[in-house]
Amino acid sequence: MDLNKLRETAAGIVSREDVKYLIGWRRGTFGYRVSPYFIEDAAGVEELIFSPLCISNLATYLTLVERLPVPRGQQPDERKVALLVKGCDSRAVNQLLVEKGINRDRVIVVGLPCPGMVDWKLLAEKYPETEAPVEMRWQGDDFLLVHNGQEIVVPRAEALAEKCRLCRHPNPVISDATVGEPVQPWEPAEDSGVGEIEAKSAPERWAYWEEQFSKCLRCYSCRNVCPLCYCEDCILDRLNPTWVNRAFNFSENTAFHLARAFHLAGRCIECGECERVCPAGIPLGRLNRKLAKTVREEYGFEPGLDAEGEPFQASYRPEDPEEFIL
Ligand code: SF4
Ligand code: SF4
Ligand code: SF4
Repeated sequence: MDLNKLRETAAGIVSREDVKYLIGWRRGTFGYRVSPYFIEDAAGVEELIFSPLCISNLATYLTLVERLPVPRGQQPDERKVALLVKGCDSRAVNQLLVEKGINRDRVIVVGLPCPGMVDWKLLAEKYPETEAPVEMRWQGDDFLLVHNGQEIVVPRAEALAEKCRLCRHPNPVISDATVGEPVQPWEPAEDSGVGEIEAKSAPERWAYWEEQFSKCLRCYSCRNVCPLCYCEDCILDRLNPTWVNRAFNFSENTAFHLARAFHLAGRCIECGECERVCPAGIPLGRLNRKLAKTVREEYGFEPGLDAEGEPFQASYRPEDPEEFIL
C-alpha cells in the first residue's frame, strides 16, 4: 500500500467544498490500537494510515453519526461524507444503500484492496502490548511488526484474523476511487466453526449456546458496532411493549441474541466486528455465518455485493424454498 498515494487522494477529497469529512484510521494511543479518524482538512491526512491493524469497519459511522432522518427542526447538512473501505466494509456500504439507510449521493467511497488484517489479540500473546504504539506493514504474504524498536516478520498463518481466513471478497465491491492494486483473492479456509456446531445433536447445540449466551453481559457493544444494526428504535430498547426484558439471565440473553441474529439474516456481511468487540468472547461469528450459509445455500443470496436490488428480507418469490420452515 502506497501511503503517500492514499494521503494524496484523501487530501484531494477533503479539500472539496462539498465534503464534510473523510473517515479513516490513525494510530491509537498505545500498543496495537488503531482509532477511527475523522479528517476535515488536508493538513489532517498526515496521520492517516492503512495497515494490517486497521481491522475495524468504519461503515458503522455512516449511520451512527450520519443518522437519517435528521431531527425535526434541524436542517440536513447536505455535504458528502468520504469513507475508506476494505472489501468487507464495502459490502456494508452496499447493504446500507439497498436498504436506503444512506443516500448514494452523500457518500464518497474510497476502496482499499485488502491483503488481510491481523488479530492483535493473537499477536499480543506472543508480542505483549507495549505503551508505545506498534507499527505493522504487509511484507509479501506475511506481516512486518515493529515492536519495541525491533522488526519482526510475523507469518500470515500466525496472526491473520479469522474473518480474513474466511474472506471471499478482499477487494472493494463498490468505490468511487480506489487506492492500490487489486489483491488476488485466496481460497477461504474451510473451517468456519459452523460445521463443528452442525455436527452436534440438538441437545448438544442447545448446551453449547446456553454456555455461550450465559456469559453475555448485555453491554450491547455487538449491536452498537454493527454497521447494519442501525434501527432508530431498536426492539431491545423498547419498554412498552417490552419485547426483551432487561433482566440479565439466560432466557432474556437468548431472546436478545436470537432476535439480533434473525434481524441480520441475509443482511450480515460478515465483517466480524460484533465478535471482535465482545468483552465476553462469545463466538457471534459462528451464529452469523450459520445464517449466512443458510441464506446462500437455500436462496443463492449473498448480501452487500450489489448496491441495487431489493433487501433480502423484503423480497419474496413464490418458488422460494420453504420445506425447511417449521
Ligand atoms: S474480511 Fe477480507 S476485506 Fe475484510 S479485512 Fe479481512 S481480508 Fe480484508
Ligand atoms: S452482525 Fe457482526 S459480522 Fe454481521 S455485519 Fe454486524 S458486526 Fe458485521
Ligand atoms: S458484545 Fe458480547 S457481552 Fe456485549 S451484548 Fe454483545 S454478546 Fe453480550
